Amino acid sequence: MDAILEVKDLHVRYGKVEAVHGISLAVAPGQIVSVIGPNGAGKSTTLNAVMGSLDTGAAAAGGVRFLGEDMMPLPLEERVLRGMCLVPETRELFGSMSVEDNLRLGAWPRKRAGERHFMDQLERVFQLFPRLRERARQDAGTLSGGERQMLALGRALMARPKLLMLDEPSLGLAPLIVKEIFHVIGELRATGVAILLIEQNARAALQLSDHAYVLETGNIALHGPAQELAHNPRVIDTYLGLG
Ligand code: ATP
Repeated sequence: MDAILEVKDLHVRYGKVEAVHGISLAVAPGQIVSVIGPNGAGKSTTLNAVMGSLDTGAAAAGGVRFLGEDMMPLPLEERVLRGMCLVPETRELFGSMSVEDNLRLGAWPRKRAGERHFMDQLERVFQLFPRLRERARQDAGTLSGGERQMLALGRALMARPKLLMLDEPSLGLAPLIVKEIFHVIGELRATGVAILLIEQNARAALQLSDHAYVLETGNIALHGPAQELAHNPRVIDTYLGLG
């Protein structure tokens, strides 16, 4: 199967310091692919380079192809319009706007599809996250951490992306909520969206994923089917611990 996303020999530097040293990875349609690795390994940098959302002052080189098209010359907005979406670690919600208005903002790439399309998509998101329906009129700033993550995911889905990139969706959440979020991510795969997930929660990520990459200090140290990596002694020692 042809990959929906192909990253080849990606280098990213912040000023004089190179943070990502020529990594390659691929995501096939309908797959969940995770990138695990320690703090500072370059996971967020990789996602931002793919999305075109690196900080000013950072520079990416190498190949990023999405649906066969070279993304490197394209700005963030163009990549969104082609069907990529990134939910950043910071979630970036509008706290003084309602849940529904945040979702409405997420639908901007599909604005031309009209109100009917928006309502259909809103219904899909509410089915995935019934809690968001209950809180549709509540300000996003008053949501719990778990609800915020649901809203961030729901907002991304409003654009009906073909590739959803998630930066540490479990960060700062209680174990029960993490379970719920990962369950929904698993359900999303069934809707056909490809998912590139970066996680420090390696155990949960490997359980859910089809394929995984281990990123260490800007290099891919290991990769393979997620179930194989979950049984790799080095991965067990370093990332899965005893828990
Ligand atoms: P974490 O899980 O802690 O977010 P990560 O694997 O996502 O880690 P990155 O955030 O991509 O790692 O960081 C990779 C390296 O790049 C680190 O050394 C970090 O200090 C550096 N870095 C990240 N963002 C910037 C920036 N805006 N300016 C300069 N250096 C940066």
